[in-house]
Amino acid sequence: MMRIHDLDDRMANFMSKTVMGAFFLARMVKGDQRISIQWKDEAKQSVLAYSNRRGEIKAVAYPGELMVGDVRNDFIYGTGILKVIRWDIENEYYQSFTNLTEDTFETNFQKYIRDSEQILSIIKMNTEIPKFGYIQARGIFLQALPEATDQDKERILRISEQSFLHSDLIRKPAEEIAHSLESIFLEKVDHLDQGVPNFRCDCSRNKIAEVLVTLGKNEVEEILEEQGKIEVECEFCKSIYDFDSEKVARLFPN
Ligand SMILES: [Zn+2]
Repeated sequence: MMRIHDLDDRMANFMSKTVMGAFFLARMVKGDQRISIQWKDEAKQSVLAYSNRRGEIKAVAYPGELMVGDVRNDFIYGTGILKVIRWDIENEYYQSFTNLTEDTFETNFQKYIRDSEQILSIIKMNTEIPKFGYIQARGIFLQALPEATDQDKERILRISEQSFLHSDLIRKPAEEIAHSLESIFLEKVDHLDQGVPNFRCDCSRNKIAEVLVTLGKNEVEEILEEQGKIEVECEFCKSIYDFDSEKVARLFPN
């Protein structure tokens, strides 16, 4: 995604973390909800990321107006909104949001969960650029289960703050992290699942055609007249769908 969208390190960092946030939320719901996280700050930096529980992800990021080398680069800048939408299988959706504060993505993400879900969640994220054009993104997401007692929550919070939130643990391979969590929390860690997230864009010629139909016949014919053909680029995967006059005519049968 970093290469599709030609992102610099700053936006690749933000995009990776936003995708992880969407993935973490999607993993916490039963069934096949799709989660999107969208935020935009005062410098017009913005990210939109989708994930489902299988780790099928897509995202797009816009760099906004901060200059290269700006010291505020690691932070979401100024005010704005972080919005989370949950889409279920019938395409009903539920939307909630939090106001951004000038801090990292993960701090804002944690604030969102605190404001909207009020479930104890502990988040650690890290990105590194091992070489030009590549980014490594890692994250740990601990969330209290419904049956957790106040005592449990206090204990987990205390241990997290004392140890792993400030350690280099997150840079280690997943197996090692799981092992370390066992010794930090003195609990058995069950390994439930394993998978590889993958970029999957769900755009299609049909979907683009539906958008054109929604625009209306007059509008579409106007663009066609101006430009000779209609070219629509998918925001996420940069696929181009074109419609010539013959194809446009078929969208609007009389
Ligand atoms: Zn696409």
